[in-house]
Amino acid sequence: MLEGGCFCGAIRYEVSGTGYETCNCHCSMCRRASGAPFVAWFVVPKSEFKVVSGTFKELRSSEHGIRGFCADCGTPVTCELDTDPEVIDVTTCSLDDPEQLPSKTDVHTDTQLSWIRLSHVS
Ligand SMILES: [Zn+2]
Ligand SMILES: [Zn+2]
Repeated sequence: MLEGGCFCGAIRYEVSGTGYETCNCHCSMCRRASGAPFVAWFVVPKSEFKVVSGTFKELRSSEHGIRGFCADCGTPVTCELDTDPEVIDVTTCSLDDPEQLPSKTDVHTDTQLSWIRLSHVS
């Protein structure tokens, strides 16, 4: 069981499975929505993602994506894509222990910032 939540603690969630896909996303939307150079995500079947407290403020950030964040502290926590309705993307660094799910790949590297150096990228 992995647990996580937002910075202020209003939102708490649990994830019950293992073996999740992980990535660092370097797209410009993740960057702007987080205020960070890239965002680490893991991908969870919706049946394994449970919100145990709080509710998300939702932002339709693109034609096919909705981002969920804490309305009180602003932490980005989820992203749901209409094109992939079975799963929910969760920010790795909203986990209590992000070391549990290191990002294995990088996506949208065409828009990766030139000053980002990642040790696992060849
Ligand atoms: Zn919060
Ligand atoms: Zn992205």
